[in-house]
Amino acid sequence: MDGINKDLPMSAKPQITAPAGIAVIGLGNMGVPMGACLVRAGYAVTGFDLSAAARKRFVGAGGRVADEVASAVAAAALVITLLPNGKIVREAVDSMRPHLRPGAIIVEMSSSAPLGTRQLGEELIAAGFEFIDAPVSGGVKRAADGTLAIMVGGDPATIDRVDPVLAAMGRSIFRTGVLGSGHAMKALNNYVSAAGLVAAVEALQVGRKFGLDPALMADILNVSSGKNNTTELKLKQFIISQTFNAGFPLRLMAKDVRTADELAHALGLSTPLADLCAELWDDAATELSETADHTEIIRYMERLVP
Ligand code: NAD
Repeated sequence: MDGINKDLPMSAKPQITAPAGIAVIGLGNMGVPMGACLVRAGYAVTGFDLSAAARKRFVGAGGRVADEVASAVAAAALVITLLPNGKIVREAVDSMRPHLRPGAIIVEMSSSAPLGTRQLGEELIAAGFEFIDAPVSGGVKRAADGTLAIMVGGDPATIDRVDPVLAAMGRSIFRTGVLGSGHAMKALNNYVSAAGLVAAVEALQVGRKFGLDPALMADILNVSSGKNNTTELKLKQFIISQTFNAGFPLRLMAKDVRTADELAHALGLSTPLADLCAELWDDAATELSETADHTEIIRYMERLVP
């Protein structure tokens, strides 16, 4: 039978190997290059997006598309969601559910709120589907190269089945534990990244006003204890150069920081820095344009007056 790995024990359900049918729901900055990786790996990929322009981009990247979600998922052994947030994922899954193949596997690769993911996954599993969360890190460039970091939560038996699909899109694949744990890890990662970015930008502003050269500051930070992902990969490249084209929208970073902060509160924890950070990124998302890159946070911070 197509797409079945015959090396597995008879009792295990088969792995999803090429040329199995995969639906990719959400053909945005990440869905297009990740779907293209699956096409290159030999899967029969059908993409769907509400936006006709997005569907056209996927065709340009070598993919096939459907005009409606029902036909995208009808022949799919596995469905990948790559949508803006968990609320939209819930709506999309509800609308595709009557059309899913019995026993289909849903792999939620968006960055969504972990508790909502857990609830959605439990409902789908109770209805006879398989579900794991597998959010990614690495941005558009690593999505195109198929070298993303992927954090996977859920039943290890389902993850075993999906391993070849994940391996076509990512290089570092981590099993994080129970359903929703991939999404928890992803939100926490982006909180750390967002807080580090704000710290680096604040330091840059203070240093510049004092008379320090911003490029020299970046060089010194990068060989000193203040080094972080922003100082290494964003200060000179996107912020000091003012190109602001890192490829990760500010509104998505704001969502991730808010997700991490809400998770902390749901667990009864006090996280004062995450509270402040979530507020700052939310304000920036309101203040700046819908399409602003996350590195443009400096534009918002420059407008703040004591
Ligand atoms: P995006 O905004 O570029 O794309 C989302 C796509 O979903 C859009 O094309 C939109 O038209 C489509 N869409 C919205 N609702 C839909 C629906 N109901 N049915 C079908 N399509 C629908 O976002 P992105 O950058 O591709 O990110 C996708 C997810 O991956 C997000 O959760 C994001 O946080 C996460 N992520 C993004 C990056 C990045 O660098 N861009 C990195 C890691 C993780």
